[in-house]
Amino acid sequence: MAEGLIVPFCAEHADYLTDESRCVGAAGTISFPKTGAEVAEVLSKVRGGVTVQGARTGIVAGAVPSGGHVLNLRGMNGIGPVRVDSSTGKAWITVQPGALLLDICKAVEPEGFFFPPDPTESSASIGGMAATNASGARSYLYGPAREWISALSVVLADGDVLPIRRGETFADGRKFSLTTQKGRVIEGILPGYGIPGVKSAAGYYAADGMDIIDLFIGMEGTLGVITELELRLAKKPALAGGITIFLPSEEAAICLVGMARDSSIKPAAVEYFNPSALNLLRCIKARNPSFAGVPELPARFNTAIYLEFHKENEDELDECIMFVSDALAKLGVSDDDTWFATGSKEMERAKAFRHAVPEAVNLLVAERKKSCPSLTKLGTDMSVPDSCLEAVMAMYNTGLLESGLESVIFGHIGNNHLHVNILPACMEDYKRGRELYMLWAERVVEMGGSVSAEHGIGKIKTAFLQLMYGREGVGEMLAVKRLLDPDMRLNPGTLFER
Ligand SMILES: Cc1cc2nc3c(=O)[nH]c(=O)nc-3n(C[C@H](O)[C@H](O)[C@H](O)COP(=O)(O)OP(=O)(O)OC[C@H]3O[C@@H](n4cnc5c(N)ncnc54)[C@H](O)[C@@H]3O)c2cc1C
Repeated sequence: MAEGLIVPFCAEHADYLTDESRCVGAAGTISFPKTGAEVAEVLSKVRGGVTVQGARTGIVAGAVPSGGHVLNLRGMNGIGPVRVDSSTGKAWITVQPGALLLDICKAVEPEGFFFPPDPTESSASIGGMAATNASGARSYLYGPAREWISALSVVLADGDVLPIRRGETFADGRKFSLTTQKGRVIEGILPGYGIPGVKSAAGYYAADGMDIIDLFIGMEGTLGVITELELRLAKKPALAGGITIFLPSEEAAICLVGMARDSSIKPAAVEYFNPSALNLLRCIKARNPSFAGVPELPARFNTAIYLEFHKENEDELDECIMFVSDALAKLGVSDDDTWFATGSKEMERAKAFRHAVPEAVNLLVAERKKSCPSLTKLGTDMSVPDSCLEAVMAMYNTGLLESGLESVIFGHIGNNHLHVNILPACMEDYKRGRELYMLWAERVVEMGGSVSAEHGIGKIKTAFLQLMYGREGVGEMLAVKRLLDPDMRLNPGTLFER
């Protein structure tokens, strides 16, 4: 065993008790393995619960330990060379789970490729992204992380290894059979529920005849530790452009989304910021120098829609610009109320603007936590079918107005997936916000939506998972978990209440 691989948890490890949910856990020991073999060694040596950590950017406390051992993968950050099939032009890269998204992007860009899933937070690790089936703005065009993962190596709770390649192992109906590296055959039955036809990262993926790799993408570290990934890469678009469009009302914003969907322009991203989100940026810019780069937002800017385009030539990009111009004319909005970004520097600035909103929310929650330590972030992550966008917006707005709770709404409106961030000032606000959230979740499930579109369930949304799939569905997930992790050691408290 590598000298000192498993060490007692001490004060210098305090950061590893938390993630971006701002929940704080507890742990007895910690390890920073460098290889899959060391991960297997840790799992076979430690007793009791093991919490798997990537970069701890998750916002549902999945990486927050609840006692036991912390298995932190930051040291497993190797990135292999880009491999290109010269006959098809297709490309892949093999990476270790602790590799950060920003480093993977840097590695593939000079080769003319990119990795499309982009959960805004580029310091996320790829293992964490796979474990949560992360999405982000560009998933409107490119889909979630699962569509870009072609192979995984997973270390199971007993240290045995499961190599899985997309296209090789399929369920027979809902029955599945897996063979580990040691030759052990694991046979089981997938949950019987239907996955909603919307963006979803809630619980285990299950479908008749599915590729079994999809069971492990989005499992939030509850079935095994991902120790290696092969990623499919996309060719970098010849031209990329982003337009931030400021609108006078929410109705105008919804109207613009409908026009974009009905058009032939195929945006890569369709994002939204409500009036409170823009106000939060105005406030934080005024009092926090690290937000000085956020441009001035005149008072007439009420809401904003961000459209991103990935195109192969000037004509295609011009068509998109024409679309925006025509749409604004129909809505009676001036072309001046837009920011147009092309080229990597300007696109980075546009991204920084979008990132500033969740960052500002997180800072505010951290500030409020100083006077009320039990407070955590209360952010929704639910998606609904296209036909329910207006209804879900109305539901959020009415609920917020009636409750008087402070909030901001932003996110992936193209996928009818908005993050309502309730900003509680005290635990009483938090309790009321949580009740409102539960009410919304019930309605979202009735609409055919998902209680988590991209962040996952973690430890703070387990009640919503039950709401979506019922006791029976959660019980069926638990049966799969027990098959692969009989002693329930991996990520205790995540997905399933303890
Ligand atoms: C400002 C901000 C904006 C964000 N915006 C988005 C967004 O738009 N879209 C989106 O999808 N997410 C978003 N996120 C959430 C977050 O970035 C993602 O959930 C991310 O994919 C998690 O990666 P991580 O490495 O930080 O994982 P962690 O937080 O460390 O872990 C997340 C979960 O994955 C498990 N896990 C981690 N690594 C492994 C592994 N190798 N094997 C098995 N299990 C593992 C953990 O146990 C935990 O359950 C945002 C976060 C922030 C802070």
